[in-house]
Amino acid sequence: MLATILRKPGDIRCEEVADPKILRPTDAIIKLSASCICGSDLWPYRGLQPVNGPQHMGHEYCGIVVEVGAEVRYVRPEQFVVGSFCLSDNTCPHCRFGFQSSCEQREFMSGAQAPYARVPLADGTLVATFEVPPAELVPDLLAVSDVLGTGWYAADAAEVREG
Ligand SMILES: [Zn+2]
Repeated sequence: MLATILRKPGDIRCEEVADPKILRPTDAIIKLSASCICGSDLWPYRGLQPVNGPQHMGHEYCGIVVEVGAEVRYVRPEQFVVGSFCLSDNTCPHCRFGFQSSCEQREFMSGAQAPYARVPLADGTLVATFEVPPAELVPDLLAVSDVLGTGWYAADAAEVREG
């Protein structure tokens, strides 16, 4: 499949990569309905963050589950899911306290600017909708992946109040 790869600052290419596979029993594979370019993709692109070898890009995403690992309990094939850029188990003390971004198993998503992606810690990272949404809702749901959480964090940190 083709995927976006950042080679060095200012150099992003669409390149052939291997199809993602289940590597751990807590993984899911999803078929992307939509993914986008994040402001944080621009830091390494602009040379403000080091690029240590080719980077498979994309961490804001939503799509349809096609396969799950043996230990995935809640996410099922054919569900529409929205994923977080921050991979979390949703079971450790930090997650249970509401700080999934500080999960003891935290990793960061990548590789979602492609037709398919592997999502580690699928049960904690992916949120399924009740039904597969109509196509016109997909851009709105995509914004829930990263933009909503980032905006919420900023508003909370700034102690935004009514008025
Ligand atoms: Zn956790």
